[in-house]
Amino acid sequence: MERLSSKAEVHGAVLAAKREGKSVALVPTMGALHDGHLSLVQAACARADYVVVSVFVNPTQFGPGEDFEAYPRDLEHDLALLAAEGADIVFTPNVSAMYAADAAVTVGPGPLGGMWEGAIRPAHFSGVCTVVTKLLSIVGPDLAFFGEKDYQQLQVVKRLVCDLDLPAKVVGCPIVRECDGLAMSSRNAYLDRDERAAATVLYRALRTAETLALDGERDARVIATALRDTVEAEPLATLDYAELVDPVTLQSLKTLDRPLRAIVAARVGATRLIDNMAIVPRQEQQ
Ligand code: AMP
Repeated sequence: MERLSSKAEVHGAVLAAKREGKSVALVPTMGALHDGHLSLVQAACARADYVVVSVFVNPTQFGPGEDFEAYPRDLEHDLALLAAEGADIVFTPNVSAMYAADAAVTVGPGPLGGMWEGAIRPAHFSGVCTVVTKLLSIVGPDLAFFGEKDYQQLQVVKRLVCDLDLPAKVVGCPIVRECDGLAMSSRNAYLDRDERAAATVLYRALRTAETLALDGERDARVIATALRDTVEAEPLATLDYAELVDPVTLQSLKTLDRPLRAIVAARVGATRLIDNMAIVPRQEQQ
């Protein structure tokens, strides 16, 4: 495995691999890697001959007052984990290598980027779209792997690649969870002991929604209310949103007449957590 920090080096290494007839996968990350990230790397290694993992804490997707400076960073540990998974290249640009001082053009996410996370973090998805477009241009992968953990991001990136005819296929990968159901996240490291215990409320709320659907509830508003009530019953959690939405357009829906997505975001102490789950109406589960 090689660690490369310049765009030109990565571009050259990938070109050489392509000349050998290898298929190429990209796994974009912000580092502080856990088993959720590694599941993406494993999926990439299974589907492509040559795997590039980027580790870059992208400043443009953090808003003012968010945790860009404090975001956990542990590159040596990340490199060891990625070598063990069999990644070919780890791309570790610094901010000034990634963004020219006079960079002026950004990529907008369209309407999907103004909903849910985008309503709370206004520049977030523009930062995501810009950095993903740049990474796809630098690396030129056949496949790009993203986690369902960031479900809205996955849908935004799919639209980005489709609407701008970017020559890569986006592959979504399932959420990896801790034993108690908490979705793995680099930000879980911020939680103290009591907050860590309280953080399972997101998963418990999603399971409550899933159970209602399994029991035959078809009113999506009833299910969304149960989702919200569960989170709000946890004293350490403050709900941002909890809703049942169309899995592609992310619009709220009133009736569970096809598979929908339950999405939830809450702050536990000072830490913002997001999670989601597919909610399938009863007869489609057989
Ligand atoms: P991040 O480093 O948080 O930007 O995440 C990099 C990629 O890993 C994104 O595509 C995330 O959706 C994905 N990811 C993060 N946590 C998980 C998880 N628990 N399960 C699956 N994918 C994840």
